[in-house]
Amino acid sequence: MFDEPETLPPILRDAPETTEFRKLRKRIVRETRAALDDYTMVRPGARWLVCLSGGKDSYTLLAALIELQWRGLLPVDLLACNLDQGQPGFPATVLPEFLTRMQVPHRIEYKDTYSIVMDKVPQGRTYCALCSRLRRGNLYRIAREEGCEAVVLGHHRDDILETFFMNMFHGGRLATMPPKLLNEDGDLFVLRPLAHISEADCDRFARAMNYPIIPCDLCGSQEGLQRMQVKALLDDWERRTPGRRQVMYRALQNVRPSHLADPALFDFAALTRVAGVGGDIAATAAEGLDNLNDNSTPR
Ligand code: SF4
Repeated sequence: MFDEPETLPPILRDAPETTEFRKLRKRIVRETRAALDDYTMVRPGARWLVCLSGGKDSYTLLAALIELQWRGLLPVDLLACNLDQGQPGFPATVLPEFLTRMQVPHRIEYKDTYSIVMDKVPQGRTYCALCSRLRRGNLYRIAREEGCEAVVLGHHRDDILETFFMNMFHGGRLATMPPKLLNEDGDLFVLRPLAHISEADCDRFARAMNYPIIPCDLCGSQEGLQRMQVKALLDDWERRTPGRRQVMYRALQNVRPSHLADPALFDFAALTRVAGVGGDIAATAAEGLDNLNDNSTPR
């Protein structure tokens, strides 16, 4: 699987030669490919806008996609894109220089959404909701201008989990950022090929590759307090029971609408009893097993 370094695309060269790093890289490529397949993201011949913020996750995304493309496993055209949102101190030359050096086709766009956010958001409130909405709108526009059918984002497994719990705890709904989504206008896909990959792996990979990581706190916004609380909760669970995050992520892929409580999702009215000899006994036994499986609290 691992080839002579000089034959690799520039963004994959100069990798550490340790077994540990090779395993990490292999895992990232394998899991990225699995997500592309699991959610039918690839349409041969398509063009994708790959969003690069300069954070560890977006570098990992770009490198994984380029590796798959180079191996002939991703028959799409990739255009990397950075949206410079005008945050004070944003090192505007870092990404253009990096992408040029790595021979990655790219577009750098400057749009001062920072001033709009500062103007509109009352003091003491977090900026992220409006900032993300403005960023998303600009990325959709750029994707359309560039003839791309998808906006590709570097959200990973832990982003997906945190959003799930944020929605449940504070939004009163079971929902998260899915690996594949159609935008509201129905003309663009939003793809998250790192959906199966942990934040820790993205961090390890981007740091080991020495990519020029741009810190994500330049906007001066402390990430929403609620998100920080959810993150701390998940970290605590993971510390007490290693592997808990992965189990929770698996649960998102194993949903049973009949064992939730949303009448819009499952037709409870259509449930019918099986009549006949032994039917009641069988139903009671099945119900008992379900109760055992759902870990319900005894009343
Ligand atoms: S952390 Fe800053 S840049 Fe990121 S979404 Fe929030 S306001 Fe925008």
